[in-house]
Order: sequence, then C-alpha cells, then structure tokens
Amino acid sequence: MKYDLIVCGAGPGGLMAAKTAAEDGLKVRLIERKKDITEINRTCCQVFYIAYKGATKSGIYCFREPVNLEVGKEKNRFIFPTLGFSVDYRGPIRPYYQYPHLSPSGYIIDRYPKHNDNPVTFFFQKEAFLSGLLSEAEKAGVDIVTEIMALGAENTPDGVRVTVQTRSGEQTMEARKAIAADGIESQIVDGLGLNQNRQVLSSRLKGIGYVMEGVETNLPASFLLVSVPSLNRYANILIYTLAGGQIMISTATFDEASPSTALDEFMKLPRYAPWFKNSRVLRKTAYGNFIRTPVKEPVAGNVLIVGDAGATIETLIQGAVACGYLGVKAIEKELNGQNGYREYIAWWQQAFEFNDPTYFSTVNRYFSLNSLCSDEEVDYLYKSLTDKVGVPAVLIEQNLELFKNDRPELYEKLWQKQKQFVNEPE
Ligand SMILES: Cc1cc2nc3c(=O)[nH]c(=O)nc-3n(C[C@H](O)[C@H](O)[C@H](O)COP(=O)(O)OP(=O)(O)OC[C@H]3O[C@@H](n4cnc5c(N)ncnc54)[C@H](O)[C@@H]3O)c2cc1C
Repeated sequence: MKYDLIVCGAGPGGLMAAKTAAEDGLKVRLIERKKDITEINRTCCQVFYIAYKGATKSGIYCFREPVNLEVGKEKNRFIFPTLGFSVDYRGPIRPYYQYPHLSPSGYIIDRYPKHNDNPVTFFFQKEAFLSGLLSEAEKAGVDIVTEIMALGAENTPDGVRVTVQTRSGEQTMEARKAIAADGIESQIVDGLGLNQNRQVLSSRLKGIGYVMEGVETNLPASFLLVSVPSLNRYANILIYTLAGGQIMISTATFDEASPSTALDEFMKLPRYAPWFKNSRVLRKTAYGNFIRTPVKEPVAGNVLIVGDAGATIETLIQGAVACGYLGVKAIEKELNGQNGYREYIAWWQQAFEFNDPTYFSTVNRYFSLNSLCSDEEVDYLYKSLTDKVGVPAVLIEQNLELFKNDRPELYEKLWQKQKQFVNEPE
C-alpha cells in the first residue's frame, strides 16, 4: 500500500500523530478540510494547563497527565514527563497567577491565594502551536492535503479504506491503518457506529468567542469567570487574557437564547461596561455540538480515535496531543504484531476524568448555580464568601449553614440540589 497511515483532521491531535508517525519512518498522509491548517475557527481560549491544581473532580479540567513548561530563549518546550515526550513551541506565553470568579455586581472569589509566585497556568497561542507542529510534520515527510473532507472509514481485510470529498468529487484512499482526529463531531466515529453507545446528555450547545482589543479590566492577566444568571442560565461568561493586549470573551447556551446576545448584554452591565468603553471586536469564533458521553474504547479495527473525536467534554490541546503521540505508538506496536491497542484503550480510560462514571453528575453539581439562583442571590453568595479561596460552587456547598438563618429560601434551594448528590460515591 502507498500509505501506512492516513490521519483525518489536522488539529493538535492529528498533527501530532502525523508528525510522530512520519518521524518514526511510517508513510503518512494527513487530510484536513480547512485550507489553512493553522487558522482557528472553533472557539478556543488557548490556555495550556501546567500542574493545574484544579485537576480534580471539578469538571473543568479533565486531563490527568502532568505537563511541564520549559521556557527557553528561542523556543519553549511542553514536557509530558510520565509519557516520555515533549513538543517544541515558538510563540507567545503569558503566565496566569490568578483565577478570579466574579458575581454580577463584581464581588470576587479567588480560586487561588493572591500572593502565589507560581503561575496557576498560562496562555499560549494555538496558531503558533499548530504552525510549529505543521512544519515538523512537513519536515518529517508527511503528505499533507488540505480542503479535503473525510466522509468515513471502512475496515478492509488488509487495512482501511477512507472515503473523502474533494473538489472534483468523492474518492477513496487506502492504508494499513487510519486515525480519526476530526474533532468533536467526527464523521468517522459516527460512520463506524461508535456513537451508538454514547449517551446524548444535552440539546445542542451553541457557543461564541469574541477576540477583542482595548478591554481594560484593571485585573491582572488571568482567566476570569463571571456568573450572571439573568444573561445565561447555563454557563458563565469567560474572559481570557491573550497575547499582545487582546482578550477573548466567550459563552455558550443550550436553548434558544443566543450566546452573542448574552455577551453583548454583559458588556452593557453597569459593573462591566467601563471595561469595554474603548474596546473593539477583532474576530469572532463559534462552536456547536451535543454533549455526549465519551467513546469507551477508542479503536475500531484498523481505525484509532484521537482527541476530541472521542469525547465532547474536551480532551484539551494537551490531551489531544498526548492521544496523537500514544495512538501512533499503539499503531506501531500493532504493525509489529504486538497488542498496542489494549494499552491505548486502558490509557484513554484512566487519563481523562470524563471516563469516570460520576463525571457528568459532578459537572452538573458544580455548574448549577446559574440555573438555581438570581443575580441578586449570586451577588449575596459571593459577597458572603469573598474572604475565602476556592471554587465558588464548592465553597457554597461547604458553607451552606452560613446562609440558613439569613436566607432560608436560598438555603433550601441549594440544599435540595446538593442532596441529590450526597449519596453518590466520590
Ligand atoms: C470554548 C472553548 C474553549 C476551549 N479552551 C481551551 C483551552 O483554553 N485550552 C485547551 O487546551 N483546550 C481548550 N478547548 C478545547 C480544545 O480546543 C480541543 O480540545 C482541542 O483542539 C482538540 O484537538 P483535536 O485535534 O482533537 O480536535 P480539533 O482541534 O477540533 O481538530 C480537528 C481538526 O479536524 C478537522 N476536521 C473536522 N472534520 C473533518 C473532516 N470530516 N475531514 C477532514 N478534516 C476534518 C478540523 O478542521 C480540525 O482542523 C476549548 C474548546 C472550546 C469549545
């Protein structure tokens, strides 16, 4: 066969897989539907989580492998110490030392202690990251074709046949193995029947992100999370500091409510309008998908699943990169007659928190404040807890008794919600 491996999708997972396989001597074709691989259309806040202390059952960060950053003069390196590989990155980096959560009127609960010299995490630029991986893939000899859409993959006695849509019509390509790295609504995963056992947990999620300049928050570079139930009963408003004085503001909704209306109205709230007085939207990105439970076993015959193609609560950039690397190592073992798939499946199941049976109810537990409370109630709760440090939803649970006498109705509402989870195993 002409190719050992066809990789479908050139996001962080697919690029890492293609580059790794070609560097190891495999003949690789990489196909991508976009014209420019480094262009980012799907919203991404571009935070690279290092030794992230929130990596617990919070439903916010669900990749369990440690990742370190080595800062150099000419290039930086992301190191995956337990997996034994690293990725070079030449692009801007911005450390975040804080993670403030804000209420509608601006009461703040800090997630981490204020005077902490270690960054809790940091911003990096996804375009620059993809561009680095792309040039390494090119250097290693990957045959890259863009503006081609993978429609499906079918196992054959000798390997796999991938059907693609090109400008001149449908074509098929064959290889010994294939990787589906075509992102959150993977056509390949669907075509292989792997979505049949996945539970759909939500209506369609619609999200939007604005890249802006001229925003003045007067807060240190960080990510900010603002809870405003009257604007969005499902999610918070996220604000991330990017490179070069830009910020990204983003939110998502599940119902008819428009996420862009929520953002536009947020920028008019009395407490926050001054931040946006001299601001300008430079670019908009969007996303939309259903929330599904993950693919349990991310391998089907000669097709291996990498990154978000197997999960809708994201694998994150670093999780997708780790999948790309380990997926190729698994395929190489299979090509040598060893059982690499078993190891990859076992790793997938323990490396991502979304595979835990209680993961989605934990997310529900910690994300229910906006659906339960009014703006005034969120203000009251944040004001009462403003001297404490931690995740607001967790602090509220831990300090519920504080509100019992002062606000019995609010207490009752929160307690009823909390009770649903009390008997669940941790
Ligand atoms: C609002 C939001 C904020 C986020 N913030 C962060 C963050 O701060 N940090 C972080 O690490 N992660 C973040 N993520 C998640 C992160 O973007 C993803 O987890 C990551 O990009 C997954 O990489 P991937 O390679 O698996 O998939 P993707 O990045 O989705 O790449 C898939 C690729 O496949 C291509 N493709 C799709 N279908 C086809 C097809 N049929 N044929 C050919 N090509 C196809 C796509 O064009 C794309 O290039 C965020 C996500 C969202 C929605």
